[in-house]
Amino acid sequence: MPRTAYVNGHYVAYDEAMLSIDDRAVQFGDSVYEVVAVRRGHLVELDDHLSRLERSLRELRMAQPRSRTALKLIMKEIQRRNHVHNGLLYVQVTRGVAPRNHKFPSAAVRPGIVVTGKSRIDQESVLAWQKGVKVLTVPDDRWRRRDVKSTNLLANVMAKQAAADAGCREAWLVDDDGFVTEGTSSTAWIVSRTSCIITRPLSNDILHGVTRGNLLRVIEAHGYSVEERAFTVTEAEHADEAFITSANNPVTPVVQINDTIVGNGEPGPVTRRLQEHYAAVAGAL
Ligand code: PLP
Repeated sequence: MPRTAYVNGHYVAYDEAMLSIDDRAVQFGDSVYEVVAVRRGHLVELDDHLSRLERSLRELRMAQPRSRTALKLIMKEIQRRNHVHNGLLYVQVTRGVAPRNHKFPSAAVRPGIVVTGKSRIDQESVLAWQKGVKVLTVPDDRWRRRDVKSTNLLANVMAKQAAADAGCREAWLVDDDGFVTEGTSSTAWIVSRTSCIITRPLSNDILHGVTRGNLLRVIEAHGYSVEERAFTVTEAEHADEAFITSANNPVTPVVQINDTIVGNGEPGPVTRRLQEHYAAVAGAL
């Protein structure tokens, strides 16, 4: 089935969708984005993603290209035209097109928008969700505003490739003091020997994961003990369980960190229960 993309006001054939070589996203990575899961036709946590997009735009002093209502209509139209029942929608907003110059272009330059959608074509996330994944830890080389979901992702790209080269699905990024910040495209969690669920508190050090926020509400509603605090690589390696979360990989068990098997090497019981609780509110994979 031919795919359709939305680019700057037009629905176009995916293969013909283009940005200008003077687009600030191309020149400087000067753009922000969101990835929204679609499960059984439902756009999961859509308003939370759009709130984060609006926040990223504000933090980068970028104009809001469309009202939230208009953006939702575009996203749903892309979902419809691409028959996305289970999959992902991608939204990107760029600062627009202007001759290359680091400082912002004039206020007359309008922000650009790209929206695409794709059905889940491989079973990789489902397999990861069932069997768990390995992670590699690497230094966190990113800039300090990781709370902004910008497309400036070079450090994430390098870390993810290092993980892939080591046979791991994700890299956990580690700050200068030895504490895990997060994954290259996911939030990092561990479960202590006393069954306490631990994840790093919100700050500019990490992206404020939408799945993280909603899972925390689920965790609290079910009465688990939880601590929002940083943890070291050593603590993670000795934890009973570990997992990652993202729109694309909700509650995915981590069964190995570097050369250390986590727990007994199988997805742990707390992680399994959280998968069920989260699927009950956000839809199963
Ligand atoms: N951290 C980073 C760096 C990410 O890129 C992502 C998602 O892409 C996440 C965390 C998880 O965020 P969310 O749960 O909103 O998908």
